[in-house]
Amino acid sequence: MKLDFVTLMTVMAANLFMISAVLPLIMGRDVSRAARHVQASLLLQAVGWAAIIASSTFWDQALSTLAIACQAAAQWALYRALEEWLGPRPLRRTLLVLVVATPLGYTLGFDHYAWRVGWANGLLAATLCVVARATQGPLILSDSRWRHLLMGCLLSSATFTLARGLLGAFTDQYPSFRTPHPVNLTAAVVTNVSLVLGTVAVLVAWRYEAEQKLRTLAMTDGLTGLLNRRGFTHQGENLMSHAWRHRLPMTALMLDLDHFKQINDTLGHEAGDRALQLFARLLEETRRSGDLIARLGGEEFGVLLLHNPSPAGEAFDRRLRERLRETSAAELGFELDFSAGMATLHPGEIKLATLMARADAALYDAKASGRGRLTAAAV
Ligand code: GH3
Ligand code: MG
Ligand code: MG
Repeated sequence: MKLDFVTLMTVMAANLFMISAVLPLIMGRDVSRAARHVQASLLLQAVGWAAIIASSTFWDQALSTLAIACQAAAQWALYRALEEWLGPRPLRRTLLVLVVATPLGYTLGFDHYAWRVGWANGLLAATLCVVARATQGPLILSDSRWRHLLMGCLLSSATFTLARGLLGAFTDQYPSFRTPHPVNLTAAVVTNVSLVLGTVAVLVAWRYEAEQKLRTLAMTDGLTGLLNRRGFTHQGENLMSHAWRHRLPMTALMLDLDHFKQINDTLGHEAGDRALQLFARLLEETRRSGDLIARLGGEEFGVLLLHNPSPAGEAFDRRLRERLRETSAAELGFELDFSAGMATLHPGEIKLATLMARADAALYDAKASGRGRLTAAAV
C-alpha cells in the first residue's frame, strides 16, 4: 500500500471542515463558550490544512504563513475551551507568546527553508505541549478520562510535528512538506487519528459540562438562587467530613421566618416571595468564605459554619438580624423577622442530619419562647 501525503492531508482538511460544519448544527445555537471555542479551533485547523495544501500551487508565502497562524490560533482556542471547562490553566502567557511568534518567525525567515520549517514545527510542537499540559491539573470542577485522551492526542501530534521540524532544519531529506518521507507519512496518519480521538474527547467534555450544569440546577433553589435541601445535604456532608478530618468545630443554624403565612395572607404571595429573596440576599451578604447557606424549603433556611467555635453562630445571627432590621422596611415595605436555632457539633456526632435535628429542636424552642430570637441547643 502506498500512502500519499497530500491525499491524507486533503482527507484531513475535508473531515475538519465537515466536523466544523456539523458540530454547530448538532450542538445547537445555545451552546457554552467552551463549545464555541472548540468549534473555532476545529474550523481554524480546517482552514490551516486547506491553506497548506493550496500553498504548493499558489501564493506560497502568504498561504503557508496563514496555515501556520491558523494552526497556532487553533491551539489557543482549544486552550480557551479548557479554561472554561477546568478553570485557570498554567502557562497562559507562554502560549500567547508561542501563538504570535510561530507565524511571525516563519514569515520573517521564509527565504531560509531549514529555518522556517524548524522554527514553525518546533514552536508548534511546543504549543501542542502547552495545551497538553493544560488538560491536566490543577482541577477545579471536572475530573474525567477525556482529559487523558486529549492529552495523548496532543502529545502524539507534538512528537511528529517536532520530528518534521528536526528533519527540515537539520537534514536534506525533507525538501518540501509533501515529501513522502516515513516520518512525514506517519505524521499524517497520526494527525488524522488524533483528530478523530480528539473530537471524541471534546464531545465527552461537552457532555460532562452539560451534566455538571444539570447537577448544579438540581441543587439550586429557583426562587432565591441559594442551594436547596439536596445541595445543602450534599455539600454539608462533605464539610462535615472535612471538620472531622481536621478536628474543626462546626456550628449549624436553622432559621425560620416568623409569621410568614400572615405575610402571604395579608400582602400576597408575591410579597412573600420578595421577602424570601431579600432574606436570601442578606444571608449571602452575611456569610463568610467557607460558610454554607441554603433554603431548605418554604421559609426555612440552613447555615453551616466551619472553623468557628459557637460564638460565631451567635455573631452570624447578630449580623443577619442587624442587616434585616436595616433593610426589610425600606426594601419590602414591611418588617420581617426570624427565629433561629443553633447547635454545635458534638464529639461523636457523625451525621449531618442529627446536628441539623438538634438545631431544629432549638429553633422550635425559639418559636415557643416568643420568636425573633436565637436559641442554642442544650449541649
Ligand atoms: P411561624 O412564625 O411559626 O414560623 O409561622 P409561619 O406562618 O411562618 O409558619 P407556617 O409554617 O405556618 O407558614 C409557612 C408559610 O410559608 C406557608 C407557606 O404558604 C409559605 N411558603 C412556603 N414556601 C413559599 C414560597 O416559595 N413563597 C411564598 N410566598 N410563600 C411560601
Ligand atoms: Mg415560619
Ligand atoms: Mg416554617
